[in-house]
Amino acid sequence: MDKSAESRAWGSVRVLPAPEVRAAARACGFALVGLARAEPLDLRPLVDWLARGYAAGLRAMHQRIPERLDPAAVVPLARTVLVLGIPYGKGDTATPPAPAIARYARGRDYHYAHRDRMRKLRESLREIEPALRTYACVDSGAAMEKAWAERAGLGFIGKNGLVISRSHGSWFTLSLMVLDRAVDAYDSPHPRLCGDCRKCLDACPTEAFPSPGVVDARRCLSYHTVENHGDLPAEVRPKLGPRVFGCDACQEVCPFNQGDLPPGDPRQAPRALGHLSAAEIAALTEAQFDELSTGTPMRRIRYDGLRRNACLSLGSTGGEKDQALLRRLANDPVSSVAEAASWALREIAMR
Ligand code: SF4
Repeated sequence: MDKSAESRAWGSVRVLPAPEVRAAARACGFALVGLARAEPLDLRPLVDWLARGYAAGLRAMHQRIPERLDPAAVVPLARTVLVLGIPYGKGDTATPPAPAIARYARGRDYHYAHRDRMRKLRESLREIEPALRTYACVDSGAAMEKAWAERAGLGFIGKNGLVISRSHGSWFTLSLMVLDRAVDAYDSPHPRLCGDCRKCLDACPTEAFPSPGVVDARRCLSYHTVENHGDLPAEVRPKLGPRVFGCDACQEVCPFNQGDLPPGDPRQAPRALGHLSAAEIAALTEAQFDELSTGTPMRRIRYDGLRRNACLSLGSTGGEKDQALLRRLANDPVSSVAEAASWALREIAMR
């Protein structure tokens, strides 16, 4: 549509009051809310990141690129990107010998939390503007949440590649809703505040940051324990330490994540599986896993994926007390579990 046709189409369209949109989002359970103009994002960082192979096996990152970068590709006449955050908080101190499970994954799967609340939010916004068209996503489709969060003033992208809010640190998850209506006031982009700090870069167990703010998934423990369904590379395995699902190393050291931060959303509170150690996870029966993992992100890698990770973790943290369990798992009918247990036994024997 040319500019004059577009402005005619928008001549009679209502502009939404930003305070009402914000209030509706908060009432639906989003503690963090930002509003950005729906203008296309810069193509270059994503294309460069993909070209360097940093997406590893995340094939979806190579798809639907126009949708990721231009909200108008998913909502004709898109005007606003509403960025929404739900904190999971840092108040949960894992019981020793955790942290086997990253903090975001210890409670209910955040995808469900965002989807439920976005459904309600869409209804609330349609009470303000019945003809409103929207597109909502959390970790799928047009999901450049971090770039939009920075544009919407919700936080800044730190050298660890995560969005950091002055109020909540980086302990929150994000989703987006594209609206085909403008609002009467937008948030300003958030300035980057890392300064000379490089604690996260130095704390990364696998040196997964080729440059500040850029993550090479091929080295990232979070990628390997959550997304990699194949073999974990030999150079990554010994770096797992106690981690079984996800990694918080770059968040735990960040100065913005220290001190008195607001508590996490109560519905994202940790569940029993979130507190187990690698040895306890490796010993779970399938029935126990089914019961404990229902509704949590651990479902994503299933029973065998979690046991594989737990065995690999025991390879770097286990000892004599874990050998009987690992010997049993070395005969597991699932080859990835048996191979991981055999590897762990060899690592323990060499210490
Ligand atoms: Fe930025 Fe330092 Fe936090 Fe890394 S640890 S994200 S460099 S403030």
